Amino acid sequence: ACVVAVLIIRKRSKGIKWGKVKEMFAEIQSKCALPTEKLKQIASAMETEMHAGLASDGGSKLKMLLSYVDKLPTGDEKGLFYALDLGGTNFRVLRVQLGGKKGRVVDQDHLEVSIPPHLMIGACQDLFDFIAEALSRFAALESEEHKLPEGKQRELGFTFSFPVKQLSLSSGTLIKWTKGFSIEEAIGKDVVAELTKAMERQGLDMKVTALVNDTVGTLVGGRYDDSDVMAGVILGTGSNAAYVERASTISKWHGDLPQSGEMVINMEWGNFKSPLLPITEFDEAMDFESLNPGEQIFEKLVSGMYLGEVVRRVLLKVAQEYPIFGDIVPPKLETPFILRTPQMSKIHHDSSPDLKDVGTKLKEVLGIHNTSLKTRKFVVDVCDMVAKRAARLAAAGIYGIIKKIGRDTKSDPKQRTVIAIDGGLFEHYTIFSKCLDDTLKELLGEEMKNSVVITHSNDGSGVGAALIAASHSDN
Ligand code: BGC
Ligand code: MG
Repeated sequence: ACVVAVLIIRKRSKGIKWGKVKEMFAEIQSKCALPTEKLKQIASAMETEMHAGLASDGGSKLKMLLSYVDKLPTGDEKGLFYALDLGGTNFRVLRVQLGGKKGRVVDQDHLEVSIPPHLMIGACQDLFDFIAEALSRFAALESEEHKLPEGKQRELGFTFSFPVKQLSLSSGTLIKWTKGFSIEEAIGKDVVAELTKAMERQGLDMKVTALVNDTVGTLVGGRYDDSDVMAGVILGTGSNAAYVERASTISKWHGDLPQSGEMVINMEWGNFKSPLLPITEFDEAMDFESLNPGEQIFEKLVSGMYLGEVVRRVLLKVAQEYPIFGDIVPPKLETPFILRTPQMSKIHHDSSPDLKDVGTKLKEVLGIHNTSLKTRKFVVDVCDMVAKRAARLAAAGIYGIIKKIGRDTKSDPKQRTVIAIDGGLFEHYTIFSKCLDDTLKELLGEEMKNSVVITHSNDGSGVGAALIAASHSDN
């Protein structure tokens, strides 16, 4: 029996033909490859689409949405403002006391609530009632010093992180849902009107002064701290960017040119698509089975909602052909979205010689026990491929913006361009953000690499929404 057992063990461990596994993986890697030249082409394609999207509505996959934000913060903003941030897995309510010149943000409070998944795909009114209820609970906690003078209405900046066709600064209709939200009846509705009705149902007296995308909020919040901020980028559950455009170049805009000559544009870059993108069979299958097939292709390659899922799909395919996780395919590995990006990040960052954290995560998340070091190493390699493809693509997107606004060359030796970034993927996935930064430098080249700076705008989008509300308030 002993001999038989030894034979079986030898047979099993020999069962993994690592040479073949590596060959299969090399092929997937080659499809994901993004050498500098290819990234530059992608950045140029992004720039071309930006032009097309500014020229006419529907002119491009990039919607290039007008934000109606044509005044950037000066630092003079003053007063008590609320902000509501909806668009990821959590939603937040903020109260910000702005102190005016030099005072900056004097005081800030917030409440974070996770959104029950059934509300993301349920009825429109239920979602807005849930939000208004939390807002009302939060507003009730206002202390005496925050109370507004009699007769003044509380004002709210509403950060709503989905594509919206703005009708004005304080109204706009939902174009489509993204990121796991899908409430058919809300499409085409004015989301500010929906929120206002829900607040009325709560008996909450508040006025929505500004409706903003999270990228716009991040840009504005970043600009408050640093006057060289020219773009706001979100790398979180979803991904997108907004930047400061010269209003005269927005040919689809027929209104009066703003006094500042500038307008913030919400690109909705998540919907970018190009034959240049490194799309594999795994991406195609994930897209096909998603809530929004054919849409948000760039986002599906780049953002936190999807990275872990792509890794799972690659591992599943390999496990179906070679017994890397034992003789049977681990059943949990067949469950969509079971591997979340934060768990993938934990696996990827394991630097212990025996890859202990990788082993623990495989057990906890996928129910896979007793993996060999070789297998654990392989899992890390898959994470590395997927994360770096994402980071390099995000860098190409940013480089496209830099080119569009002419900051890829230097006119003035002191010229500085700052990109404010927020989102959990950027904030917590260190290998990802480091790769993003390195890649951007690689694209900018020796001469320019130090004049473009990436900063983490921590929760800029909430403060940004409050700032926009403040600068457009008629109180
Ligand atoms: C949405 C954008 C948003 C981004 C980041 C995307 O799915 O379409 O409006 O800015 O996610 O939250
Ligand atoms: Mg957010």
